[in-house]
Amino acid sequence: MKRVFSGIQPTGILTLGNYLGAMKQWVALQETHDCFYCVVNLHAMTVMPDAEELRENTLSVAAMLVAAGLDPDKVTLFVQSDVAEHAELGWLLQCMATFGELSRMTQFKEKSREKEVITGGLFSYPALMAADILLYNTHLVPVGEDQRQHLELTRDIAQRFNNRYGGLFTLPEPFIPEVGGRIMSLDDPEKKMSKSNPNPNSYIGLLDPPDTIRQKIMRAVTDSGREIYYDPENKGAVSNLLTIYSLCSGKTIEALEKDYEGRGYGEFKKDLAEVVVECLKPIQARYNELKESGNINEILKKGAGKARAVAAPMMDKVRELMGLKV
Ligand code: ATP
Ligand code: MG
Repeated sequence: MKRVFSGIQPTGILTLGNYLGAMKQWVALQETHDCFYCVVNLHAMTVMPDAEELRENTLSVAAMLVAAGLDPDKVTLFVQSDVAEHAELGWLLQCMATFGELSRMTQFKEKSREKEVITGGLFSYPALMAADILLYNTHLVPVGEDQRQHLELTRDIAQRFNNRYGGLFTLPEPFIPEVGGRIMSLDDPEKKMSKSNPNPNSYIGLLDPPDTIRQKIMRAVTDSGREIYYDPENKGAVSNLLTIYSLCSGKTIEALEKDYEGRGYGEFKKDLAEVVVECLKPIQARYNELKESGNINEILKKGAGKARAVAAPMMDKVRELMGLKV
């Protein structure tokens, strides 16, 4: 069985972008692959979160992943800081990534533009991500489009390591959905939907109550004109809403374009809101059950044990090859 690895940051409540771009694929792959899924709390440290909030978000993200359909008996679900090898390999790979490479990362450019304080961790983040992936001999990394560049860097670093120290690391491939790989903000179709956006109207949170979802969708920006058709270049906002509609309902974009021919944005948005509400209803119900039954800690503890069993021998080989064992 081929290995899959992916991670998600506990930086807030998960959004519909996270679900459609990444989590849906995570759930599908659990049937055919050996999947390691990680709540990457060390990545969240790059933006200096409040300790209590980080703790809560970590448990809530893990519960949400199970609620969205991950089966803890099929996948290895764990918290990054429970497996110390991530931080150790992260440091070593930081020392193999160049300043030039890290400076070219668009995520760093975008995130640092918005911040008053830019930590060293935010800059070197992709090296830690490379470590996360390479520790597990990963073949496939299901992520959203925004992570493509980080994946390319991961492959470059792995190749560099293999050339220098001997072929240890598997070169991972990105697995990015053609539709839904980049869900855009509801208030700005030029920006991707992000859970850390301070404006809650820019995203649909997976825990948003039905009325909030309705309000956010009715308020979402649209484009000039009133026709509903898919054209990301010229009609970014409507194309984004069509993508969401299609993925949440299972109807193709072409079928939706036909359905809404000659009908206005208002009617379209009203129907879309109901489709999203229905799509999230079962996830929200399972999430509330899980939060009450409270066995998430147990799932994560078991997951960490399984992850360590793979990461520890891998890290041992890295230490040996790099001359760290004397
Ligand atoms: P943050 O703003 O803190 O970076 P985020 O919403 O970008 O939060 P991440 O934890 O960084 O979430 O990413 C988790 C996964 O969700 C990644 O695979 C990422 O590519 C994917 N993802 C994030 N936003 C979107 C989006 N708008 N559309 C599709 N996939 C997305
Ligand atoms: Mg992100």
